[in-house]
Amino acid sequence: MTEKYRLECPGCWVSFDDHYTLDCPMGCRALIRTYYHTRQLDIKELPGIFRYIDWLPVEHSLPLDAGPISYRSDAFAKELDLAHLIVTFSGYWPERGGNILTCSFKELEAQPTYLRLQEKGSGVLQISSAGNTGRAFCQISALTGVPVVVVVPAENADRIWTTEKAENVCLITVEGDYTDAIELGRQVCTVPGIIAEGGARNVARRDGMGTTLLDGTLAAGRLPDYYFQAVGSGTGGIAAWEAAERLVGDGRFGTHRPELHLSQNAPFIPMVRAWEGGRDRIVPADMPDAEAAIASVSADVLTNREPPYGVKGGVYDALVATAGKMYAVTNDEARAAGALFSGLEGIDLDPAAAVAVGSLVRAVEEGSIDPGKVVLLNITGGGYDRVREDHEQHRIEPFLRLPAGARIEGEVRGEIAGWVASHA
Ligand SMILES: *Cc1c(COP(=O)(O)O)cnc(C)c1O
Ligand SMILES: [Zn+2]
Repeated sequence: MTEKYRLECPGCWVSFDDHYTLDCPMGCRALIRTYYHTRQLDIKELPGIFRYIDWLPVEHSLPLDAGPISYRSDAFAKELDLAHLIVTFSGYWPERGGNILTCSFKELEAQPTYLRLQEKGSGVLQISSAGNTGRAFCQISALTGVPVVVVVPAENADRIWTTEKAENVCLITVEGDYTDAIELGRQVCTVPGIIAEGGARNVARRDGMGTTLLDGTLAAGRLPDYYFQAVGSGTGGIAAWEAAERLVGDGRFGTHRPELHLSQNAPFIPMVRAWEGGRDRIVPADMPDAEAAIASVSADVLTNREPPYGVKGGVYDALVATAGKMYAVTNDEARAAGALFSGLEGIDLDPAAAVAVGSLVRAVEEGSIDPGKVVLLNITGGGYDRVREDHEQHRIEPFLRLPAGARIEGEVRGEIAGWVASHA
């Protein structure tokens, strides 16, 4: 049997088998990619994202109906005078078939990540999160029983809920911000048996997110001309670019790679500054007063200080390859655009999704897109108000509460190791 996919490094073009590999075995600073044997996407009769299992780095599927949904917008498109606006929505919106109960596209990443680890690796996954990623991985843990260790800022702990009781989550809170959670998470991974999920370096996360572009393209009948998304790490933008390459290779959806129109929430806009400065790396001047800037944005899931921007195959390369553009969207712009969208389309939005809507409003005002062309608006999260009407939300109690900069040693280390031993 031919293997389903191989991994390849865009730095040295070495190709290799997957052992839950996160980095190039030759040591390149590059995002390794999947190359699927199946060139033409064959939609499977499976639930949620597993419709697209041909282009996911997993052999099996989960019986979970949680994928993106796409539709052609009327009301909002008319408001902006756009001829072809496709909305791809990842969240809860049962009237349109949206069934992601934790309300963000992080569930698209969580599902294939768990499966890939089970199939190609071993150990208990560790996630650091500002909230949405952690909630998504906890939800899939709750539904499948697979254990997970999640580290979040203490003030975001209330975002970690699931719609079924989660018995196999080790939640650790840290007195600090997302950056402190990432740092603590790194240390937690030194406990034997715990494995870093890898973020943007994990092909399962990127290809899972890439299903949004597959879904939107199928709804449009062709590759869109423009792709709009709010970014913190930019992983979704990279994923969209990679998925577009696959769709071009498929041959049935056109040859034009969608331009990436990616947005951040001002004043924390490191990638916007680096891109507009023509630089392929982020410098400290791109993040002045980082802590204050991070504290003042409405969409803190977009506040990643170490995004995979300059790495080979990262955000910079994706923007260059697609002649992309970046936008700095203020809280006020995001709120106004989000309210306009919600009023016309009838669903509440994640603050980050409102930032993407704000960037589209701006693009139309500035004339940076042709309003007659096909636009894909990636609504990366929403339906929080809606889901409360239909589903219970179980808060997860922290297993440990730690200060920022805590070291994972002594008693604390023992407690985490003990948790792993009894749950793995
Ligand atoms: C994580 C997140 C983003 C940003 O995604 P990246 O592509 O990883 O930068 C946007 N919107 C929502 C709702 C998110 O949870
Ligand atoms: Zn390499």
